[in-house]
Amino acid sequence: MNMISNVINDMKTAGKTMLTEIEAKQVIKDAGIKITETRLAANLKEALAICKEIGFPVVLKIASPDITHKSDAGGVKTGLKDAKEVKKAYDDIMTSVKAKFPDAKIEGVSVQQMARPGVEIIVGMFKDPQFGPVIMFGLGGIFVEVLKDVSFRLIPIEKRDAEQMIKEIKGFALLKGYRGQEPADIAALADVLMKVSSFVEKNPDIKELDLNPVFAYKDSAVAVDARIVLE
Ligand code: ADP
Ligand code: MG
Repeated sequence: MNMISNVINDMKTAGKTMLTEIEAKQVIKDAGIKITETRLAANLKEALAICKEIGFPVVLKIASPDITHKSDAGGVKTGLKDAKEVKKAYDDIMTSVKAKFPDAKIEGVSVQQMARPGVEIIVGMFKDPQFGPVIMFGLGGIFVEVLKDVSFRLIPIEKRDAEQMIKEIKGFALLKGYRGQEPADIAALADVLMKVSSFVEKNPDIKELDLNPVFAYKDSAVAVDARIVLE
């Protein structure tokens, strides 16, 4: 299976190491993982044209190779229901980002469909200086950031490892359905972990990879944000 992504080759040729959300999602999609289709709009007019094609509600995010934490920059607006809300979100994003990161190169905004709510999962990968590539699994938000409720394995992993990684986090019960939240598709999550593992194994140039978050549903899992750093 040839999984060397064209995007990665192009980036290497251009001497770039930080992929934008759109580039990272293309890579992730090539690896067989579901993503929210995401398109770049260079200006408001293009953003509105994309909205017409994909339909409301949409999400707008700042598209800049210099901004990796888009929300912190005021660069993410979700649940936009019509053209008027998109225009306001576009203006607000640009105002906020220009104030916080005046030197950032801005390509425009990414436009994507608003995914319906699901359980937020984080899948990460980094290189341990001693052990090499490591894959991480956790629940989104406070579970990872405050409680450090995560599991790790060395890459490559097998299906059984992926399933164990999911089951051993303390918050596993939340994946089985909590307060009316639909349960998460464990097999789909294990599949995401295995696809990340095999993709990273075949692309040693990947230094860091984050799918944060992946929305887990009862019958699927979809990455709504992706970050990739190359060596
Ligand atoms: P950041 O760069 O700050 O990590 P994200 O792309 O992860 O930006 O967006 C921040 C949050 O917005 C996500 O954690 C998620 O809750 C929500 N979000 C992002 N994209 C979508 C989407 N397509 N549909 C629904 N919610 C989204
Ligand atoms: Mg994110």
